[in-house]
Amino acid sequence: MSEVMKHFHDLHQIPEIAMQEFKTAAYVADVLKKAGFQVQTGVGGTTGVVGVLDSGKPGPVLGLRSDMDALGTPGSAAHLCGHDGHMSMLLTAAEEIHAENLVQKGKLKVIFQPAEETGTGAPAMFKGGAVDDVDILIGMHLRPIQECRVGQAAPALYYSSSGHISVFVTGKQSHGARPYLGISAIDAGCQIIQAVNAIRLDSSIVHNMKATRFISDSGVMNAVPGKAEIVFDVRSQSNDLMDLMLKKLKTAAENAAASLGATAELKIHNITPASIITPEITDLLSEVISEEMGASALIPPITTAGGEDFFWYPKLKPELKTGFIGLGADVEPGLHDPAMHFNTDCLENGVKLHKGAVRKILG
Ligand SMILES: [Zn+2]
Ligand SMILES: [Zn+2]
Repeated sequence: MSEVMKHFHDLHQIPEIAMQEFKTAAYVADVLKKAGFQVQTGVGGTTGVVGVLDSGKPGPVLGLRSDMDALGTPGSAAHLCGHDGHMSMLLTAAEEIHAENLVQKGKLKVIFQPAEETGTGAPAMFKGGAVDDVDILIGMHLRPIQECRVGQAAPALYYSSSGHISVFVTGKQSHGARPYLGISAIDAGCQIIQAVNAIRLDSSIVHNMKATRFISDSGVMNAVPGKAEIVFDVRSQSNDLMDLMLKKLKTAAENAAASLGATAELKIHNITPASIITPEITDLLSEVISEEMGASALIPPITTAGGEDFFWYPKLKPELKTGFIGLGADVEPGLHDPAMHFNTDCLENGVKLHKGAVRKILG
């Protein structure tokens, strides 16, 4: 078994959910130490692990980032997003980079980040200083079969900004016989959804918002509820449009509720930023893909409505140069699907791309 398949096999057996990647972090730290990296654990008060390989010579600091978390609940977690693949590729690359002495100038940091799925891992690692000295940061994600095939890779992945907003509606509960004495939270909730659906935004920028949860129950069937919660799932290819969308959603919800005498209070859950990618790094990664996998492997950048918490790093540190590779993996039936699987032949390609980026930037 190749080293990358060994790591994949080992990590696949120990799926752990966000911020609980204890066995995973111990495995990663152990491999990095044996490979000759200086290792920091518990980064940012999380399970995050950073491995450093310093040439001792001046030059840029390159960060290669992998996520670590699985999906599910404690006890029934599973790697359905391929983060076990991401870790195995980066660990194998780290071993080979050290063994082949590829870091000739500057410094390499391999960053293993927890909790991508909850969008909380990247901000925590940022706070912990993981990218304080990093000049260029590169991420990678396995792609669904519809986007990119094994043997192909895209030099940029344009994720959307995405997140959720809870709208808490407060009216006044009343008896079903006397609804005029109350304010129906269900009616107010319907008004809110209509008002939000009527919001118009720049149609040249891909975006959408829709209700994904509507909970209201007085506990009995003959009373009109006075409380409701509505959740909106919001997505936008632009961070500016997302800001505008949130502003308009708030105005629409509050005023729609007020039209019936109810109130609406908004809670904005973690909103992941849209891709912030440096064109010069996309060009560099295009060269890396062509050189490492052959010219026919290079496909154009991919745009996806999915989210990726990687983009907290450039959002929080705007001077950071970033790139993000979409790696063909033939993921089927889809990421996050309970039956998710992929062609592990892609893992060797990911190792080559990590090494290629190091050769180009630190060679
Ligand atoms: Zn995922
Ligand atoms: Zn993922």
